[in-house]
Amino acid sequence: MSSKEVILKEVDKLSLEMKSVAKFIGQYPELAFSEFKAQEKLTWFLKKYGFNVKKGVGGIKTAFIATKSNRFKKTPNLGFLAEYDALPGIGHACGHNLIGTASSGAAIALSSILKQVSGTITVIGCPAEEGGGGKVLLAKKGIFDPLSVAMMAHPDNKTEVVKYMLALIEVDIEFLGRASHAAAEPEKGIHALNAAVATYSAILKMSKTLTKDARVHGIFTSGGQKPNIIPAHAALSYYVRALDMKYAYQIIQKIKKIAFQEAKKIKAKVIFKVNPIVYEPFHPNRTLAHVFEKQLAFLKIKNEQSDPKSKIGSSDIGNVGNIVPTIHPSIKICNHFSCHTPDFSKAALSQGGFQGMMVAAKALALTGHELFLNSTVLTKIKEEFHR
Ligand SMILES: [Zn+2]
Repeated sequence: MSSKEVILKEVDKLSLEMKSVAKFIGQYPELAFSEFKAQEKLTWFLKKYGFNVKKGVGGIKTAFIATKSNRFKKTPNLGFLAEYDALPGIGHACGHNLIGTASSGAAIALSSILKQVSGTITVIGCPAEEGGGGKVLLAKKGIFDPLSVAMMAHPDNKTEVVKYMLALIEVDIEFLGRASHAAAEPEKGIHALNAAVATYSAILKMSKTLTKDARVHGIFTSGGQKPNIIPAHAALSYYVRALDMKYAYQIIQKIKKIAFQEAKKIKAKVIFKVNPIVYEPFHPNRTLAHVFEKQLAFLKIKNEQSDPKSKIGSSDIGNVGNIVPTIHPSIKICNHFSCHTPDFSKAALSQGGFQGMMVAAKALALTGHELFLNSTVLTKIKEEFHR
């Protein structure tokens, strides 16, 4: 039996347990920063197979780190990222119950060769991917710094190894005017909503001049209390996205200029806030992605790669990818359902979901196996990262 086959056998041995872990997390969906049941389940699973577990790392109660090392030689340190938060109202509609379990299963299976190879396997439990930016906070605390690489696989309706992600920055704009009787004395008021509407329209016009990858989308979050009162307060909330961080900040400067200009016209005041939790753009490590793709081919799974920069969103994985070489491939679990829909939630608890999870675990474990045995490829991965 080849050493690859040994690893696959180890993953297969875990399949019943993995299915029950993924099912449990799927059936008890927990929102960002309150994933206590999922954290307990995954750390129990990892502990059972000899991992050292630390909960509540990086100042987040529901985060964790689990490690297992060769007794004498601790490097390289291969990181597997676990996500396990759900979405409000529609449960595990992003399939994070499968992500956390696949990463943990891969790490456990791969750890069976730690007696023969030098290195450490680390599973990092990353809460709050769906808003909250768990990895942003963990990155700020240096949690990913010890890793040589970081890997995870995300369920989807298509298997694609390379996908870029957009930076995501949240901007909130408040307009402060003055209330007045809308019929009797409108001239005494300052119509905050008018400034907000003018700003919204001008931003919409400006957004049409941006590069194709950029996205600016906003909503009104406040616009008055009653039609007979001139609104003293109005507010807009925006997401600004782009493939390039500098460009995203340039867009924010344009938005700021528009808001202040429009407010000035009617003597309203502006409070302009940029959320400090920023999702950085994600640039997958191509060399590492290629190693993963080779393992998929070995498993006879087709990579249905399309344009890696089209139809993309944002994720806090970008903040990890700027610290260590990282991959975030998509693994097919269903035919056409999209993430963040109730149908995808069902898929994440279906036979197809569990099969996709096993493919992800096997490909991740085999990728780790190759990195442990082939130091040249690890050097190339690092070279690409530092370029
Ligand atoms: Zn997701």
